[in-house]
Amino acid sequence: MEYESTIYDELGVPNVVNAAGTKTRIGGSRIRPEAVEAMSRAAEAFVRLSDLQVRAGELISEVTGAEAGYVANGAAACMELAAAAAIAGDDLGTMAKLPETQDVPNEIVMSRTHRNGYDHAFRAAGARIVDVGNNDNYLGTGSNSTEPWEIADAITEQTVAVGYMQKVYSTPPLEDVVEVAHEYGVPVIVDAAAEVPPRENLSKFIEAGADMVVFSGGKAIRGPQTTGILAGKRDYIRSAALQHLDMHVAESVWEPPTELFDKDALDGVPRQGIGRPLKVGKEELVGLIAALEAFMDEDQDVLANEWNTRLDIVSEGLENLRGVTTRREAGGKLMVAPEVYVEIDPEAAALNAVELVGALRKENPRIFVGSDDLLDGEFTINPMCLSDSGAEYVVERIRSHLV
Ligand SMILES: *Cc1c(COP(=O)(O)O)cnc(C)c1O
Repeated sequence: MEYESTIYDELGVPNVVNAAGTKTRIGGSRIRPEAVEAMSRAAEAFVRLSDLQVRAGELISEVTGAEAGYVANGAAACMELAAAAAIAGDDLGTMAKLPETQDVPNEIVMSRTHRNGYDHAFRAAGARIVDVGNNDNYLGTGSNSTEPWEIADAITEQTVAVGYMQKVYSTPPLEDVVEVAHEYGVPVIVDAAAEVPPRENLSKFIEAGADMVVFSGGKAIRGPQTTGILAGKRDYIRSAALQHLDMHVAESVWEPPTELFDKDALDGVPRQGIGRPLKVGKEELVGLIAALEAFMDEDQDVLANEWNTRLDIVSEGLENLRGVTTRREAGGKLMVAPEVYVEIDPEAAALNAVELVGALRKENPRIFVGSDDLLDGEFTINPMCLSDSGAEYVVERIRSHLV
């Protein structure tokens, strides 16, 4: 494959050919050209960030159907802001104390099967996660890992929210969790960081009754890597903004945008809040707006065809290779894009799957394939962050190790 040199070559840092999908640790997605252009223009002039947040919020609210929207530097950052909003509400004293929560309710109830590494973001705001249910998915009795009554049972005076990690296979259904939480007057925070496309999912969880939903701006939306979207009820977005915006202001001349909050309804100016380390610049905000607009205009069928054509290159390229079988799984079930699963028979192939995936990563450029199923002897090729020539290159390198 012709290899175009990149800025990473100039820096002496190995490039990555990304066949793993939108993974942050290898650079997320390919940012849209529209977003790059918008960011570079944003860098040329100044703007008040709160004004720009209002504009981004309008777009977020239009595309999600939520009352309001906000942007921070990643979906995980938005999870932290959501937790901070649920804990502090409009109370300036609590805002100033976070993440210290000895004196205030701070529990987020979550199904045990929804716990994951990213929920550290809730705890970073001062929340304590109370997980319920069990991991009873292997007995084959048909019992569920968490029942809605278990969530209800865990809600107390100390509860500030119910946390929900959204995947197509998440149970109990979001609607049922919302029903239980709302019965007790508690908001539901949904982590839907990687759940678009389909585009309809932008509004789906709000429609299901979620009070706050987060999406990553740097995954399939293809905005700047350091952006995340928080969509939700106006009261929570107001609290999030108060805890995120730079508050180094003089009260006498402070005129924050009324769309975000009514200054006169506050007891004073909040201090720099728990969200201050989660800031986004004008460039990222503008880049996200441009990317989100382009994402809304994108023809999803054309994109799906492109992905499938790219995967054809992979499946055809790996035909008739000893010890290798491939199969394609359609997108939309467990993942957003279709993927090719490559199964390696260690008895017949020169390398087993672990050795092959390890060897590909050590090359220059490094090749990253999806490794979630490595222990079952297979890996995946995801088309989202590949080019057609990248797909050919991956095939060529896999063949070179196995032939
Ligand atoms: C990617 C991801 C996140 C974090 O998103 P960032 O935008 O990188 O902060 C959080 N939760 C889940 C489930 C994710 O897949």
